[in-house]
Amino acid sequence: MKQLKYQHIIIGGGCAGFQLAKAMLNLPNSTVRSVLIIESSKEHAPKSWCFWADNSHPYRHLVKKEWSSLSFGAYENKKSLPLQNKTYQHIDSQSFINYHLTEFENNPRITLIHDTVFSLENQSEGCLVNGYDRSYMAEYVYYSIPNLTKEVNFKPKVWQHFLGWEVITSENYFNDEEATLMDFDVDDNMDGRFIYILPFTENRALVECTIFSNQAFPLTSFENSLKTYLHKKYGSDYKLLKTEKGSVPMMRMENSLNFERLIPIGTAAGCIKASTGYSFIRNLEHTNKIIGYLQGNNQLPGVAYSRFDFYDKLLLWIIENEKHEIKIIFNLLFKNNSIRNILLFLDEKTSIFQEMRIFYSLPKFTFINALFSSFPKHVLSINVLKSIYLGLKQTFLAYLNKGKVGEIQKTIVE
Ligand SMILES: Cc1cc2nc3c(=O)[nH]c(=O)nc-3n(C[C@H](O)[C@H](O)[C@H](O)COP(=O)(O)OP(=O)(O)OC[C@H]3O[C@@H](n4cnc5c(N)ncnc54)[C@H](O)[C@@H]3O)c2cc1C
Repeated sequence: MKQLKYQHIIIGGGCAGFQLAKAMLNLPNSTVRSVLIIESSKEHAPKSWCFWADNSHPYRHLVKKEWSSLSFGAYENKKSLPLQNKTYQHIDSQSFINYHLTEFENNPRITLIHDTVFSLENQSEGCLVNGYDRSYMAEYVYYSIPNLTKEVNFKPKVWQHFLGWEVITSENYFNDEEATLMDFDVDDNMDGRFIYILPFTENRALVECTIFSNQAFPLTSFENSLKTYLHKKYGSDYKLLKTEKGSVPMMRMENSLNFERLIPIGTAAGCIKASTGYSFIRNLEHTNKIIGYLQGNNQLPGVAYSRFDFYDKLLLWIIENEKHEIKIIFNLLFKNNSIRNILLFLDEKTSIFQEMRIFYSLPKFTFINALFSSFPKHVLSINVLKSIYLGLKQTFLAYLNKGKVGEIQKTIVE
């Protein structure tokens, strides 16, 4: 069968692939002549994408609902956390996909094909993409699916598993100005499971049971927790409208290949934050770096190792080995720190001193135990030490140059 040739091929028409394709079409024809997206499935499982952000991102018009406050609950206490310059925003994946399909439909520079890719090869004359239906050739290939190249072995031990029920109630129980980020008061399970609630109106909400875990759970385990929680809050006054189920890897890609023309994006580029599973905004930031590279004014974004990966690894070790500590850690995190600092920390934009303050508020023995029990060679590598050194240096420079503190807080070893 004839091999198809394009200038750019994007493998995976999902969150990262569509964000990149759309941004590429904003570049002139001289930079982007032709784009092929290869997507394996014709039907996308609907997802709710949420993230905290201001109004400046390109998907603002797709935001269906936003909340000005978040809440956290544990040990029968609930804390409201008003967001200041940001809101917690919700986009449903179906409107995201439809918006892009409409944008792509009448653009002769872009083509979408349904095929399943099984391997990639970097050859002297370009990148070869092998699909089950045919082969494709391109100058540049971007892939969001890990494990497509033989050098990459992506095997997360810990996953974020969840089951969500969209429910409607006859009474107005929900505060639709506030989303519940975590409520640990679910049931008697000691595995750190929590409830996440997106109230779309005062009587309609997505209620999700989430478990960070290295083991899989039967569906009934999530269903029972949801039933117990809903019954405790609203009795039997709810009707199930839809379900949303999923698992997100809680591990960063560390050994993605970055040949100049074979470029990882999304999941393959480590854009899913290992400790939270959030990736929408990180995908966008990564897209911007690739666009900068194509415009010739930036370096190709690598999979950078930062001290935040080290923190994430400590948390993952605790999730794997000390599940019962999860509730205690998050309770202390939200009790002792402002929501502004927590979100900055999760966005990896805090200074080392802010991070120290956050760690000081957490159960120290648990983290020290995690540090010594996990393999020090693996966890406390030269990359971490380098990253911590750079973080200290930047924080010190910021201190000397107080006016610029905000700008230079982020430290990532490129
Ligand atoms: C149910 C659910 C809810 C989530 N909620 C949030 C949230 O609230 N906020 C947030 O920031 N993140 C959230 N995430 C995580 C986020 O959606 C993903 O991490 C994000 O989609 C990653 O982007 P991606 O492009 O790498 O992968 P995807 O969006 O999964 O896209 C990959 C695409 O590649 C296709 N594909 C797979 N294999 C092949 C192949 N061999 N050949 C061709 N195509 C292939 C798939 O069909 C898919 O369309 C959620 C994830 C799930 C599952």
